[in-house]
Amino acid sequence: MPIVWCEHALLPAGIAGAVALGIAEGRFTSVTPGVAPPAGAAVRRGLTIPGAANAHSHAFHRALRSRSQRERGTFWTWRDQMYALAARLDPDRYRRFATAVFGEMVLAGYTTVGEFHYVHHRPGGAPYADPNEMGDAIVAAAMAAGIRLTLLDTAYLHGGLGSDGHAPLGGHQRRFSDGSIDAWAERAGARTAPAGVRLGAAIHSVRALDPDAIGVVAAVAADAGWPLHAHVSEQPAENEQCLAAHGRTPTEVLRDAGALGPTFTAVHATHLTGGDVEALGDAGAAVCICPTTERDLADGVGPTRRLADADIRLCIGSDSHAVIDPFAEALAIELDQRLITCERGVHTTSELLSTLGAGHGALGWDDVGEIAVGHRADLVTLRLGSVRMAGVGADTLAEAVVYAAGAADVTDVMIDGVDVVTASRHRSVDVATELADCIAELTESTGATA
Ligand SMILES: [Zn+2]
Repeated sequence: MPIVWCEHALLPAGIAGAVALGIAEGRFTSVTPGVAPPAGAAVRRGLTIPGAANAHSHAFHRALRSRSQRERGTFWTWRDQMYALAARLDPDRYRRFATAVFGEMVLAGYTTVGEFHYVHHRPGGAPYADPNEMGDAIVAAAMAAGIRLTLLDTAYLHGGLGSDGHAPLGGHQRRFSDGSIDAWAERAGARTAPAGVRLGAAIHSVRALDPDAIGVVAAVAADAGWPLHAHVSEQPAENEQCLAAHGRTPTEVLRDAGALGPTFTAVHATHLTGGDVEALGDAGAAVCICPTTERDLADGVGPTRRLADADIRLCIGSDSHAVIDPFAEALAIELDQRLITCERGVHTTSELLSTLGAGHGALGWDDVGEIAVGHRADLVTLRLGSVRMAGVGADTLAEAVVYAAGAADVTDVMIDGVDVVTASRHRSVDVATELADCIAELTESTGATA
């Protein structure tokens, strides 16, 4: 039986030293602190923590990093650049590019990703010969990168929401739509997933789906036992449009359509009313905060303290991939609150650490996220001798995970008992080279994104 010995490890009860971990069939079979390295054990110096979960990703957005920063712009001008990029994807390109993006995630310490997938069809909207080919490209990419995947098949039917109802799809949006909610249900329902991959459903937003369609997606997810995610109140304009069209907030529309519940995750949840927080709390829902994207897109700062006080599980996502670094996301939750409240310690270190792993559950993986017997064997090791981590002190290692560590400190990553990153290198993907090649191909001659 393979044994990994960790110099320091973050266990459910806190930091422990000299921890021997037995692993069989991808799961922890023993956790024994305070022992010398057993003969033949794989020794991990530094601090080893459970794998982080990236609960919200659109892999192709990675190509916009730095390219969307040339001009001032708004969320809506950024969206136009993103649409132009989406128009250039095909299944082969997307498989290769997503493999590199998922590789970057693993190098940063993410062991599970939830891909909020909406680029379903050919440009113009005609399906591929296999209508699930684009989603299958995402599945193949995750397997090649060694990351655990929940593919959130996203329903997207309308181009936007005005006071007089939904707008037709714009040209670049046509490939996101199945044409009707019944066609979405038929295509998504026909999908199968290999071992190591879970399926889920997503409501793109109240901008892209009407209340009846939201109800259909919620029913399909409930019948299949799938997690259900939705973009919720990311921008004030979305709330204004929704109130004008429906007389209710986006959260209220989702609640009334039957979408809220313990398997529901609201993504962003930036601009919520007190009633919205109460509705999400009453439902036992989770909220996925994407702070580095929310900063990048000038979305605002969500009410994370009020959400936590309502017993809503907070998880993190890198969303647009302006940054891929779970430690930066967890830290940003706290630091953004400090800026708007003028107080320190709005969230405890323990709460912030829990945001790193809460996304596993929000993506349907309830047996991931703790170094504990029976859990899937995911391990992320951080070097303590880096310039960022040097001198943090043995009694503040937990705080150092949030307040000192960064993605560049990750040296080794194990997922389901398999070593995927060793000595800060992905074992099967040349991530930087692949990212550069794929992005160069995707952005050449695209005008706005080039
Ligand atoms: Zn998103």
